Amino acid sequence: MASGLSIRGLVKIYPGPVSALRGIDLDVPTGMFGLLGPNGAGKSTLMTIAAGLVEPTAGSVLLDGVDVVARPEFVRERLGYLPQEFGFYPDLTGRAMLEFLLRLKGISGPRGRRAVADELLERVNLADAANRKVAGYSGGMKQRLGLAQAIAGDPRILIVDEPTAGLDPEERQRFYRLLAELAAGRVVILSTHIVDDVATLCPRMGIIRQGSLVADTTPSAARDGLAGMVFEGFVADADLPACAARHRLLSAVLVEGRTNRTRVFVPPAAEPPAGFSPSPATLDDAYLVLMRVAADEVPPALARSAPAAAEPGR
Ligand code: ADP
Repeated sequence: MASGLSIRGLVKIYPGPVSALRGIDLDVPTGMFGLLGPNGAGKSTLMTIAAGLVEPTAGSVLLDGVDVVARPEFVRERLGYLPQEFGFYPDLTGRAMLEFLLRLKGISGPRGRRAVADELLERVNLADAANRKVAGYSGGMKQRLGLAQAIAGDPRILIVDEPTAGLDPEERQRFYRLLAELAAGRVVILSTHIVDDVATLCPRMGIIRQGSLVADTTPSAARDGLAGMVFEGFVADADLPACAARHRLLSAVLVEGRTNRTRVFVPPAAEPPAGFSPSPATLDDAYLVLMRVAADEVPPALARSAPAAAEPGR
């Protein structure tokens, strides 16, 4: 694939040794791509290698056909990065903070740096708060300010690490809408452990578990791949261990402090627990199957879908 990010045989072994990536093959096209996985799975390692910040032990990463490992400056010039923890100076106004960050990145424009900052603030809906100190910004406003510096210079690739942690639902929706707008014409990788973020935003997704890519698919293909294999029923606390021992438990949520709404994965040859009913599969179910079930039991249609099957906007 010439356009987008193309990753082949990517291995990263940290001193220890810790095998953080165990041979990743992945193509990330233009548009939103969700990289989902639990803490420690290797997401940040993959992102920092893709960003040209860390060298892999083996394998290759191409951005639009150019080798990122051999030419890290090529990707750095085309990269916007919103790290998990973004350090702001609380006493600066939003505009002054952004101007400072633009200066660090060496970005200006024909009408000066301040004009660039103002355009960016407009873009992320912070124009009205430009003269307020960052200390008074909400979590969502800070994230949008972080996004403003990330999109400065119109990057080809935007990497966003765990952006919605700590945001309230309204701020989250706002951030989502903005990110989706920014995905037009660029590669956007959203790294997260929140399944909902990916379900809402990403036409394509990858799931990483212990350094291996266990799914390269679309949210709807992942759900469809589990169709007819998820059952739901109610189980008392005392009976949960027995249920978990006999069946492939996905989730158990306490309801009114008395009983557990319990979801199980039932492979085609197995029987559902007595009293359980079929339930439409969710992306959470698909994620949990990939995290908990042995690889040879995962329905193949759940883990892989051809790039042609990507459904923009779904
Ligand atoms: P994630 O972003 O999914 O939480 P990471 O890429 O941060 O995962 O980590 C993957 C694995 O590599 C973990 O076991 C982590 O402890 C280890 N790791 C990450 N960075 C380093 C490092 N600089 N040195 C040694 N081990 C590391």
